[in-house]
Amino acid sequence: MRCMRAIVCFAFLFFLASGTGTADDAPRVFVSIVPQQYIVHQIAKERVAVEVMVPPGASPHTYEPKPAQMVGLSTARLYFSVGVAFEKAWLPRFTATNPQMKVVAMDQGIEKMAMDDHDHDDDHHPHPHAQMQPDPHDEALDPHIWLAPPLVKNMARHALEALVAEAPAHAAAFQSNYEDFVRRLDQLHDRIGQMLADRQGMRFMVFHPSWGYFAHTYGLVQMPIEVDGKEPKPDQLRQLILEARASDIKVVFVQPQFSARSARMIADAIDGEVVLADPLAYEWETNLLEQAAALQKALR
Ligand code: ZN
Repeated sequence: MRCMRAIVCFAFLFFLASGTGTADDAPRVFVSIVPQQYIVHQIAKERVAVEVMVPPGASPHTYEPKPAQMVGLSTARLYFSVGVAFEKAWLPRFTATNPQMKVVAMDQGIEKMAMDDHDHDDDHHPHPHAQMQPDPHDEALDPHIWLAPPLVKNMARHALEALVAEAPAHAAAFQSNYEDFVRRLDQLHDRIGQMLADRQGMRFMVFHPSWGYFAHTYGLVQMPIEVDGKEPKPDQLRQLILEARASDIKVVFVQPQFSARSARMIADAIDGEVVLADPLAYEWETNLLEQAAALQKALR
């Protein structure tokens, strides 16, 4: 009996230890968004403690880091940026807080597409993605690169290289984890490609156009609902409903970080389906498969 209790107790302690996931002396690194944490975890496992700057539910376009996070940064060794809007204003402050911390751009070498935005040729209404980016060349570029497996392969390689440079003692483990992850990414890419193979050119609506790289990779077209980052006005909403009918839209994506009100109104008007699609979910592989399945089902 005593032995049994000892085993249960040991199992519980083990559970607690594995709950935190990292060794006490693991180097601390920061990432901007949750999907990057997933990517770094696949390569580093418990050998690195990965903290996320933009917490679940917050938008990486407008986030303002908390004072406690700035304190946390002071002992971090690496910061993995991804090119989301809040970084433009905050990265210089992060490096001022901790000049020793190395900033690694996970989006380096990735050619970004123009943002899908029905108003992007209207110069009087800058897109919200561009508000903190006065450089006109950056203005309409789509930051949501982490939703296309081939681009994530690229991001993972940057993470691998930075981790190996930071903790060379673990280089072999990082390399083999990375290779496993890349194999899974290839499989995921093939699988989603097969699921959507006969849906080519089909359109779906989405409140905030996060799924541009995903759509582009798998031959679909996303149509944004938000206008300048806001809910469409009544006349714009009527226009969107007409567009949705004309484009034979059957599915409308919403995400937890943005309002679903106008998306629901459009879906009701066209008798379509509203699907919750979180571009910032931690379980990244499962999430992409679920979105692909939702599209496969709705786009018939
Ligand atoms: Zn976004």
